[in-house]
Formats: sequence, C-alpha cells, structure tokens
Amino acid sequence: MPHSPNDRHITIIGAGLAGAVLATLLVKRGWSVDVYEKRGDPRLKGYEGGRSINLALAERGRHALRLAGADDAVMAQAVMMRGRMVHFLDGRTDLQRYGRDDSEVIWSVHRGELNVILLDIAERAGARLYFNRGLSGVAFDTRLARFTDPRDGSSHEAGFASLVGADGAGSALRTAMATQGELGERTEFLGHSYKELEIPPSADGSFSIEPNALHIWPRGRYMCIALPNDERTFTVTLFLPNDDLPNEGQPQNRTPSFASVRTGVDARALFERDFADALPLIPKLEHDFEHNPTGLLATLYLDRWHLDDHAVLLGDAAHAMVPFHGQGMNCAFEDCVALAEHLDAQHDRAAAFAAFQAERLPNARAIQAMALENYLEMRDRVDDDDYLLQRALEHS
Ligand code: FAD
Repeated sequence: MPHSPNDRHITIIGAGLAGAVLATLLVKRGWSVDVYEKRGDPRLKGYEGGRSINLALAERGRHALRLAGADDAVMAQAVMMRGRMVHFLDGRTDLQRYGRDDSEVIWSVHRGELNVILLDIAERAGARLYFNRGLSGVAFDTRLARFTDPRDGSSHEAGFASLVGADGAGSALRTAMATQGELGERTEFLGHSYKELEIPPSADGSFSIEPNALHIWPRGRYMCIALPNDERTFTVTLFLPNDDLPNEGQPQNRTPSFASVRTGVDARALFERDFADALPLIPKLEHDFEHNPTGLLATLYLDRWHLDDHAVLLGDAAHAMVPFHGQGMNCAFEDCVALAEHLDAQHDRAAAFAAFQAERLPNARAIQAMALENYLEMRDRVDDDDYLLQRALEHS
C-alpha cells in the first residue's frame, strides 16, 4: 500500500551507519520508520562491510550518537586517539596532540561493531529493519519501491510516502532519482587508492605500539596510517598513487604506486625501504597485501539532493569524500540530526528536504575540500620542520 506524505512515515534505504542513526532519531520523534538493507543482518552472520575496518569518530558524530541514545554503547568499544604519532624515516617518532588535553581528542571505532550497536538501538527504538532487500527500482508516480533479494534474485515491492537514500556512495536511490531530473552529479577520482593491513597484538596480548594515537608514516607523495582497535590490533592503511609518478630531476627514483607495487614481495620491499619500523609489526604483510581489496578514493558532488517530496539523499549517497579528514561518517551523522529536525519543523516535506539541502550542502562541500587538502598535510607536511616548529609554538 502506498503511504501518503501526511503519514509521518519514512522509508530509509540502507541500514549502514547513517541509515541506522536516522531511523533511531526519527522513531524517537514519533515517526514510523521502515529500513531496507541490501546485505544480510550483520548481527546474524557477521559484518561484510568490505572497507575501512575502523573509523575516527569526532565530537560532530558523537553529538548525533548522544541524541540517538547510542553514545555510551559506542564509547564502550572506542579507543581514544590523543593526536598524531608521526613516524619519521629514521625511526624517530613524535606525538602531535590534537588539543591541549584529553577533552580534545578523537576516537577509533570498529565499523562492524558500530553498525551492530546502531542496528540494535534502532530496532529497540521501534524501527522495522528488512535485510537482503536491495533497492532495484522506484516508481515515483505511484510511490512504489522495488527490492531484490541478492540471495535468490526474488523481487519485492513496498509503498512509501518518502524515501531517504542512506545507501552509500554507489546509491541506487540516487540512480533512480537521476532518471526523473538532473542532479548535477560528478565524481572526481583522487588518483590514489588504499590497502588495509593488520598489526596484531604483541606476544603478551597488549598493543604493539602506542594505543592512544593515530599513527602516520608520511612519505611525501604517499603514506601509511594506523588506527587502534579495542581488541588490541591496529588497522594499517597504505595510501599510494594508482600510477607511478616520476620524481622531478630523478627519473630513476620513481614514487611507488599500486602499478609498481603489485605483489606481497613488492610490498615487503617498499616497507623495508620506507616503513622499516612498521614492517616487523605486520607479520602477514604479504598475505594482507595480496588478499585485501585495493579501495578507490573519490569525491562525489551533487547539486541537488532531493526530488520534491518523494526522495532525499544523505551521507555518502549525497557527498562521498576522501577519508583524510576522518569526517565522512561524522558528517553523515550530522546530516541525520539536521534532516530529523527539518522533518519535524515543516509539515511540507518538499520544503523540509529543500531546507535540509540548503543547510547541509555547503557544509558538505567545505568538508570535502578540507578532506582533499588534508591528504597533502598528512602525507607531506606533518614531518616538516617548519610545521613542527609552528605547532610547538601554538602549544607552548
Ligand atoms: P555506508 O556506510 O556506505 O552505508 C550504506 C549502506 O547502504 C550499507 O549498509 C549498504 O549495504 C547499503 N546499501 C547499498 N546499496 C543499497 C541498496 N541498493 N539497497 C539497500 N541498501 C543498500 N569517516 C569518518 O568519519 N571517519 C573516518 O576515520 C573514516 N575513515 C574512512 C576510511 C576509508 C578507507 C573510507 C573508504 C571511508 C572512511 N570514512 C570515514 C567515511 C565513512 O566510511 C563514510 O562516510 C560512512 O560510511 C558513510 O555512511 P553512510 O551510512 O552514508 O554509507
């Protein structure tokens, strides 16, 4: 049965990070919420996320988690990161604090655990969650959404009053909306990709390196980072250009890339040369490098996030960004708070969606630009003498 836009009913596509938080916020405000997720329930069969094992959670994201009643449960598994631990080529390290004290820190959270916590909270609040339901088409005129079960290809239909696209960077709802009108969509690929590796706990079961820091190995045009996990491992992310870049004046000494570092043996040679202090910490380097996928990095720009009162996009579906400011999820959580507030403030949904876009689109653009700039800072400036001096003065 189609719903009427007067129903205070919302259908959310995607039960990832933003979908689960938005569902909770809306149910708490008295909305009736259905959430459709393409994957299986991660609480039954384990998380099959396939990218970025952990994430930096900042105050912007925690604000939304507090409103959703999820902050305590999330923080129980979060690891504090006080600052950046810079690993120089010669093995020296330097902790650059984010703020003056532990009131200004960020937190490392495990994506799979976070998603499970948020789903539990959404369901307990009263949201109806449907798994193995991938949005495959939308009849906007009759307000019917079509879903496909990836297990057997079967088709299912559900009526909706309005759809919210929390279905990530490859949003199927965005594709459906684009058939109804120009969204002004463009994707800019960074030309650099990433590979995840793991630092296991040390022999006595403790963290192998300082746990309360975001570790960075800046190397000019490329870098490694490592974030701690509560089970005392670290997830290392190696960022490299996709193709070899010639070094000015030294053609024989090219910047490594995923085109030249292809095998586990190549990866070991790179680590021996450029990340020597990290190498003994990653015993399964060759295995991780050859078995983990290489992730692409891109920025998604959209000029229009909604289709009158039928549908609206948020989170990565509206504004995917490169991960160098650690703000994609945090920004998606801020979107959830803003959309819930606009939906409550305006009876007219098209006006609420338009007000949501007017508030959030400029913010998303600003964070997208900062995320691109921060790649340069992280890989090239945090070990720079002038930069270190400037930070020392700021904190003196
Ligand atoms: P997603 O988390 O992608 O969730 C989308 C959901 O929709 C998924 O569950 C998916 O299965 C589902 N779905 C997809 N298609 C369909 C369909 N057709 N029908 C139904 N469901 C569907 N952000 C930070 O804030 N801090 C960080 O430190 C950070 N680090 C990152 C590191 C890397 C390497 C990457 C790639 C990203 C990082 N991000 C970080 C960004 C963050 O991952 C995203 O911004 C965040 O996941 C966006 O949440 P979302 O809910 O919009 O999308």
